[in-house]
Amino acid sequence: MNVRDSEVICGLLKKERYKITDQPDRADIILLNTCSVRQHAEDKVWSEVGRYKNNKIIGILGCMAQNYKEKIFERAPQVDFIVGPQDLHKIPEIIVNFTTSRIAPENLFERKIFETNGEIRPEEIYHTGFYEDKRHAYVVISEGCSNFCSYCVVPYVRGHLRSRNYKDILREIEEAIGEGITTITLLGQNVNAYQYKDVNFVGLVELVNSVKGLKELSFITSHPKDTSLDLFKTMQGSEKIKKYLHLPVQSGCDRILKLMNRGYTRRFYLDLADNYRKIVKNAALTTDIIVGFPSETEDDFHETCDLIKKVEFDSAFIFKYSPRPHTEAQRLADDVEETEKRRRHGLILDLQKLISKKKKSETAIINE
Ligand code: SF4
Repeated sequence: MNVRDSEVICGLLKKERYKITDQPDRADIILLNTCSVRQHAEDKVWSEVGRYKNNKIIGILGCMAQNYKEKIFERAPQVDFIVGPQDLHKIPEIIVNFTTSRIAPENLFERKIFETNGEIRPEEIYHTGFYEDKRHAYVVISEGCSNFCSYCVVPYVRGHLRSRNYKDILREIEEAIGEGITTITLLGQNVNAYQYKDVNFVGLVELVNSVKGLKELSFITSHPKDTSLDLFKTMQGSEKIKKYLHLPVQSGCDRILKLMNRGYTRRFYLDLADNYRKIVKNAALTTDIIVGFPSETEDDFHETCDLIKKVEFDSAFIFKYSPRPHTEAQRLADDVEETEKRRRHGLILDLQKLISKKKKSETAIINE
């Protein structure tokens, strides 16, 4: 989502004739589009921003801006403005304020701006035509999330779920194809919850699938509780849809899943994965896992390992739990020691490596 947001920002600025560089030394304005999903992501931004001096205009954008608001100026006084994810369209105007300001240069950097009150993104920000990859485009279908998984900051920084009008999504895709794009990834925090009037996610996938000139279509991220067998049938029925599903399980233990407010059980997930593999032929399945969630015992952890062995994911992203501001889980004691989190992380990593290796050799045999 942040990669696409960065493209949106670049597109808006290019329209105003700014030049984009990835060499900070050459830039007059430094923009950091940030992520708050884990403590580690935020730490990297704090250290990055410390590298820039007062002779640049510095903006912090995205989830950290929304998360910390004006407190950012206290911790990083060299930052000039902050803009939350729902206010990205205001960036060009804010920059003009800085670059054409009549304020005396010595006072210019004393003025701070923050914009974090936006609710709805104007549709036109998705139509600047800027895509980093000349063949592939990420297309946002919904913004925000209303699931409130207990560990997740997204609903607090990106707001509740809003689905874009499917007509606007199709228009964006047709425009992108007109520019030479052939592959599309539909994006949302929970794509399966997409609903605009009477068009649900499966309906949207079918509409996109029939766009002329499109060669390949995929989507991320799917939430198990909203993923339907209809979707699997649609995937199997279309040559264009990539046979790939990223389906975060997070834990294999029912007690932890409940504490996480994930809305499904271990049995439900196992059945869903089984149905996916039965309906969609030669399909890949990947996942996300959190280790060391508050109160996770050794037995709970082993249930997750057991689920991994049963499902045999093609690959998995494994994370150590870190408490996030505003969230329900932050109220629980973060009682799994860091060393223990690291041990569990390492064990699952090794287990998944073995499974991924085995799956790859199986795929190689099928391909032969
Ligand atoms: S589905 Fe859960 S983990 Fe994913 S963005 Fe929404 S609240 Fe966060």
